[in-house]
Amino acid sequence: MIGLYIHVPFCLKKCHYCDFVTTSSGDAEKHTTFLSAFKKECERYAKKFDNRVFDTLYVGGGTPSALSIAETQGLFEVIHAQFKIKPGAEVTWEANPGEVDGAKAEIYRKLGINRVSLGAQSFKDKTLQAINRDHGAREIQTSFDHLRSAGIRNINLDLILYLPGETRNDLLYSLESLAALDPEHVSIYELSIEEGTVFGQKAKKGELSLPSEEEQLETLSVVRNFLKEKDYTHYELLNYAKPGFESAHNRLYWANEEVLGLGPGAYSYTSGRRSRFVTSHEDYLKKIARGDWTCAEEETLTTDKKEIESFILALRLTQGAETARFAETSKKLSKNIGSLEEAGLLERIPGRIRLTPRGQLLAETVFSQLSIPD
Ligand code: SF4
Repeated sequence: MIGLYIHVPFCLKKCHYCDFVTTSSGDAEKHTTFLSAFKKECERYAKKFDNRVFDTLYVGGGTPSALSIAETQGLFEVIHAQFKIKPGAEVTWEANPGEVDGAKAEIYRKLGINRVSLGAQSFKDKTLQAINRDHGAREIQTSFDHLRSAGIRNINLDLILYLPGETRNDLLYSLESLAALDPEHVSIYELSIEEGTVFGQKAKKGELSLPSEEEQLETLSVVRNFLKEKDYTHYELLNYAKPGFESAHNRLYWANEEVLGLGPGAYSYTSGRRSRFVTSHEDYLKKIARGDWTCAEEETLTTDKKEIESFILALRLTQGAETARFAETSKKLSKNIGSLEEAGLLERIPGRIRLTPRGQLLAETVFSQLSIPD
């Protein structure tokens, strides 16, 4: 199987925690320049992937919803002119609350977008301001309503945990507000402090810190129990879905399947090779203009590394990894797996090995003990 990921780099404002490849939205000319570079990139890869039919399409960023209706239509024309997408495939579009009105929502549906991921992050205005989001809680509601009215039946909402100043009551308020909208899918993100972001600078000066590990585990467990009570299936470490609404595109990542990533900052994993064309919007435009298609980052995975990665990715899923599929890898890692079982972090069930509920909370510790160093 293979997925197609498109990275649209525009954002109205830079959120204080974000280290993704983005650029300020700017004017129409800036968008046109990007779209014409993107067209060239698609044309180049179309030849290589001429015989492939993509199982999913995911347009993320950045904020794809920063594009106007005409630009969005132009983007889809380019994609469909160059790549074959399987009929009925999941087509996801990321959007920021406040950037979706009725007309845009209608066009999204007409273009075949059947899943929209809205970056809510919190439903508390003071928190949204503190992290420099370009919307308030009211806009989450109005964007959501526009999407529903346009007939989008599969909506994901993102929430971020451990945001500065957010109390347990604030989190519960956000969870209740989210549940009231009744999205089909919920993705949870744990705030991480990245260098080069506003939060990274604040943390360096000692002005920002994350909750203790114990507090983080408690928060994760509150979220997990809340969403389970609201009938969401916890199918991946940080992802929850109503029956039949698990993310097909993300499932490709967790199954370590191939993904072609286009646009600045996108990662690809094809023919056993992980690569990234550029790490900034500026480099993207410059390299494409001079016809330089070398990758800024690339790595060919050894069979061992690929298998261990696939095993770890399978453990992210609540159902766990199939023992028969990973027999060789489990043998190689038997000592580490044994200690993790003894510590109550991994368990065996018929035909599978999986994280225990405690192992899910301490997943990164488990994975670090199963990884092979670079
Ligand atoms: S809108 Fe998304 S991509 Fe843009 S700065 Fe904020 S978190 Fe990053």
